[in-house]
Amino acid sequence: MNMIENKRIFLSSPHMSGNEQKYINEAFQTNWIAPLGPNVDAFEKELASYVGMAGAAATSSGTAAIHLALELLGIEQGDTVFCSSLTFVASANPILYTGAEPVFIDSEEETWNMSPIALARAFEDAQVNRKLPKAVIVVNLYGQSAKMNELLEICERYEVPMIEDAAESLGSLYKGKKSGSLGQFGIYSFNGNKIITTSGGGMLVSDNLGALEQSRFLATQARDTAKHYQHSQVGYNYRMSNILAGVGRAQLEVLDKRVKARRDIFDRYIEALGEIEGVHFMPELEGTYSNRWLTALTLDPDKVGITPYELIDALEAENIEARPVWKPLHMQPLFEGCKFYRHAEEASVSERLFAEGLCLPSGSNMTEEEQERVITILKKQLSRKISLLGI
Ligand SMILES: *Cc1c(COP(=O)(O)O)cnc(C)c1O
Repeated sequence: MNMIENKRIFLSSPHMSGNEQKYINEAFQTNWIAPLGPNVDAFEKELASYVGMAGAAATSSGTAAIHLALELLGIEQGDTVFCSSLTFVASANPILYTGAEPVFIDSEEETWNMSPIALARAFEDAQVNRKLPKAVIVVNLYGQSAKMNELLEICERYEVPMIEDAAESLGSLYKGKKSGSLGQFGIYSFNGNKIITTSGGGMLVSDNLGALEQSRFLATQARDTAKHYQHSQVGYNYRMSNILAGVGRAQLEVLDKRVKARRDIFDRYIEALGEIEGVHFMPELEGTYSNRWLTALTLDPDKVGITPYELIDALEAENIEARPVWKPLHMQPLFEGCKFYRHAEEASVSERLFAEGLCLPSGSNMTEEEQERVITILKKQLSRKISLLGI
């Protein structure tokens, strides 16, 4: 076996710009090796300006940023929070941290994201039961924006704030606005697999500067103003380190390039595989521009005759990483018993996307040759099954 030919291809691996070291060195030279410092301040300003929000607070993770947003909205035990079901568990874990109860909302077909129809039905029920949610967490899956206008209109009608989980959609646009900038709060993640990374980290953005100031207070153990250590409420240790913020600054400089590279990867996949019967790529809603963080597609079981798992195994045999689409949270043992609102009475869109969905290697540092390796295997597997079916 040729070692070079079989080098592992990852789903999405860190892609450094080369400038990171400069900011890290600055931090070392000035001894700002702390969860605060000039890189943190600058990264916050630069990111807020990039996404068009008044301010930003850098955090130790995207999960921490969601938790802070929920705390700022005063969510506590006994409250309910609506949340997209088709997402990574980190979107909803912070709901459990607060003691509130998540209610999960199905996806719709055009964006794979939160269905406005299901959301409206959940609100109608909540109204009847005299228990409106305290917040709605909307996820923009794999870079694709949800139908924000429709969702915001519903939230505004009931005067319930929206948190936009844009962990996967930094750099995407919704009708000219940056993804993550449409709700009361937006959150981003800089985990190692995201479109840009600080190895681990996150950001909370908002136009409410007072709330962001409060988030910094909560994220540094909620220390009161006093000469001694004084605390009147529960706090967290959620701030980003000045070293990692340096990595973030260099990464932000190349974000638009990374978006372009991932979109090119998506285009090459669709060009090679888009014509195959039963293979459907994740759509891009009109008026939106996706960062195409991951190229995702579905395989129609009646037409393709191969499951996502069989394809994942076939790719793994060639040292290539692919993954199923997120398992909907309403199907997770962790959330057993939580309410779930379907897009349509009879069928759940998120359950179908989970059963049929596949995410392909999409890292911006994947070469065209590497992508060709992935495509060749996919073509072979898909055509083999098609001929077995006698189509
Ligand atoms: C990655 C991710 C998060 C969590 O971000 P971390 O920085 O890993 O805590 C939250 N929501 C979604 C949709 C994600 O993909």
